[in-house]
Amino acid sequence: MRKKPDKIVLDNIRKLFILAKKESKKRPKFAQRYVSLTRKMAKRSNISLKKYRRKFCHKCNIYFVPGKNCQVRLSKNKISIKCLECGHYARYIYKK
Ligand SMILES: [Zn+2]
Repeated sequence: MRKKPDKIVLDNIRKLFILAKKESKKRPKFAQRYVSLTRKMAKRSNISLKKYRRKFCHKCNIYFVPGKNCQVRLSKNKISIKCLECGHYARYIYKK
């Protein structure tokens, strides 16, 4: 049976993502650091970041700001997000 996720860790993850969003406009390096900390935290306590997975680059951990550091395209039931920092592509399926 899977253990219930720790409330404190979940709260910290939520707070760090809010901070990352705030910092992403002025200091993207800070946001990048927050995202990498969050990912480490989630990994350690076996929590999925499903809710947030489209909000950052999985390769360089940058927080996405559409129109600034990422490119979003829709094609054939897929959302493809390109990171303009490292060139990494991520594709997600969406339902009609
Ligand atoms: Zn990237």
